Amino acid sequence: METRRKLAILADAAKYDASCASSGASGTREGKVGGVAPSGICHSRTPDGRCVSLLRVLLTNHCIWDCRYCVNRASSDVPRATFEIDEVVALTLDFHRRNLVEGLFLSSGVLKSADHTMERMVEVARRLREDHGFRGYVHLKVVPGASEALLLRAGAYADRVSCNVELPTEGDLAKLAPEKRHDVIETAMSTVRDHVDAAKDDARAPAFAPAGQSTQMIVGATPAPDRAVLVTADRLYREQRLRRVYYTAYSPIPHPDARLPSRAAPRMREHRLYQADWLLRFYGFALDEIVPPEQADLELAIDPKLAWALRHREVFPIDVNVAPRELLLRVPGLGRRVVDRMIGARRHRTLRWEDLGALKVPARARPFVRTAEGADVASRWLDRVDLRARIAKDEPEQLSLFEGRA
Ligand code: SF4
Repeated sequence: METRRKLAILADAAKYDASCASSGASGTREGKVGGVAPSGICHSRTPDGRCVSLLRVLLTNHCIWDCRYCVNRASSDVPRATFEIDEVVALTLDFHRRNLVEGLFLSSGVLKSADHTMERMVEVARRLREDHGFRGYVHLKVVPGASEALLLRAGAYADRVSCNVELPTEGDLAKLAPEKRHDVIETAMSTVRDHVDAAKDDARAPAFAPAGQSTQMIVGATPAPDRAVLVTADRLYREQRLRRVYYTAYSPIPHPDARLPSRAAPRMREHRLYQADWLLRFYGFALDEIVPPEQADLELAIDPKLAWALRHREVFPIDVNVAPRELLLRVPGLGRRVVDRMIGARRHRTLRWEDLGALKVPARARPFVRTAEGADVASRWLDRVDLRARIAKDEPEQLSLFEGRA
């Protein structure tokens, strides 16, 4: 099979993996000059915030395992292809020389065994780095169960490695991916974590996956609620020090297994999980605050920070002139940039209600804050039973609600 045909199959097969922060490229001028989707080009953010384009492919979509949710599973009837190692190396270099990509995100179905597959993926990275002096970004997927020696070699050549936890609970995995186990996956994560830490602590140590590790979880393939998803994510962030957990809403695949839902999980669920994840990592929220133990799922209709604020109206309104940064970050609609702008401005003057517009404080935040004038708009709105409905409505309409002063 010619390389271009393999690329079409293996780039398409790779698009189901979100764990390289990919925005995906499907639909991007597809079939036209400059179209990239059929070539597997995706975009990813590096830890320093740069957006890099990556060639995202599978080494093979043959697989001896049978994860029920996967289009490449052993029992699936899809066109199959396998790259030679040098084909992936040549494609990466070719795309890189043509300025189409800045790196490679390589994953694979399992050929023969975890070690056999991992060895071939590592060899792609080794040839790129050592034989061709490739300095671009490399993200390697870890095959669960691959030997520690191979993980160490993967980390030596790759900027980032990722081992997908796949499903939120061990029971889910046993049901839908019988060859995979969370303890095996987390053993691989722990090995990577220890070597990333060791490389960071010793300036003379060779680099080891400097962009750290990430994972991916499919949501909606089993009845596991959002709380179970976030419990797992929260634990992995703390224990394995993952850089990112990616959430992918399940969508039905061709010839689905009877154990899988017939309908796709709502994309909004994926979006709410990302918002919750953000609150955990950057806004100082504890897991139980975002989704209390007695609650199964995040609300789809409103974002998790607003949901928390509506459950805790007693905390508000927050005085924007004296509140500490961590409290301001809890105000619905206030992101880190706006909060820092407010803190910068209040060093020079007392903030008044009319300053909020210039500071780009969104309308949805205003029922939750107060300014120098004392009992302003916030106090009029916080006790209203319809506050939630009004804030959940389209933002532009609400502006008029909060423009006036008490
Ligand atoms: S290991 Fe599972 S998820 Fe990965 S390619 Fe094989 S069947 Fe798909």
